[in-house]
Amino acid sequence: QDAGHHAGRIQVYESGRDIALQRQVQLIRDLRRAAQQDELLLHYQPKLDLRDRTKIQAEGLLRWQHPQLGMISPGEFIPLAERTGSIQLLSAWVIEEGVRQLQHWRTLGFSVQLSLNISTEDLLDTELPARVGELLAHHDVPGSQLTFEITESGVMLNPTVALQVLHGLREKDICLSVDDFGTGYSSLTQLKRMPVQELKIDQAFIRDLHETSEDAMIVRSTIEMSHSLGLTVVAEGVELQRSLDLLERWNCDSVQGYLISRPLPVQAFEAWMQRPSSSPNSLVH
Ligand code: C2E
Ligand code: MG
Ligand code: MG
Ligand code: MG
Repeated sequence: QDAGHHAGRIQVYESGRDIALQRQVQLIRDLRRAAQQDELLLHYQPKLDLRDRTKIQAEGLLRWQHPQLGMISPGEFIPLAERTGSIQLLSAWVIEEGVRQLQHWRTLGFSVQLSLNISTEDLLDTELPARVGELLAHHDVPGSQLTFEITESGVMLNPTVALQVLHGLREKDICLSVDDFGTGYSSLTQLKRMPVQELKIDQAFIRDLHETSEDAMIVRSTIEMSHSLGLTVVAEGVELQRSLDLLERWNCDSVQGYLISRPLPVQAFEAWMQRPSSSPNSLVH
């Protein structure tokens, strides 16, 4: 288990590939510090509820403002954190920050449904439901305003413990959503065993929807089957008006993507919430 560290030391100055390795070593080292030193922040990407466009829904997405390296995307540092045991530190920060924001928005009069991403490791932490429950109680935020996005591979690692954790979260009224559905080993059969309420169809299927394409068949049947299992469906990665029109026609419940909005820094998201809700079409350019 020392191999990565060792490899980093001996190969660092050798080639372009090793510059990438050097960066990884630095990120892994700095990750633990990030949460304590105010280098993390959440951006908020609005989701549009197609049945009730006045509802405010968003996904919190983690950003790392590194003092030397600048803004680092979660696609780069989350996998490193997952492999090196610092993901739970990050998750704890994300959940605390999200709940704190929910409380703040409540004082401003906004009831936001906030989705947060949690990792495989979090699903093995049997203390998680109690800790989140305390946090919610402390900030006087109902669990029902919080959604945790999980991936099915997260559940597969240790289904017994993961299901126990998921049921514990449900007891706190937290909603559960399956992220990136359609990639990996996900299947609707497995979904039936999980206490989830929502499914997010992966953006790979959504980005370029045509009425007659193979993606269209997958998306349509996923929406229909989800509804018959009592799940709501979110399509992520909606970039084109054409995709939105099709999703609406196929009764998709919510959409998320650059067409509706990019992920926004907190002030910009608060401005977005204060848009005139009487003109929902102003959301979609
Ligand atoms: P995800 O949870 O599937 O989040 C959606 C990603 O797609 C986000 O990337 C978002 O900015 C991007 N996206 C949204 N709409 C569009 C679109 O229309 N087109 C395109 N091309 N992309 C779109 P981001 O913020 O870079 O996050 C990447 C992944 O990192 C997330 O995928 C999630 O798996 C992970 N992640 C982000 N924040 C956290 C966190 O707080 N905790 C954990 N464990 N993972 C996180
Ligand atoms: Mg997500
Ligand atoms: Mg996703
Ligand atoms: Mg993803």
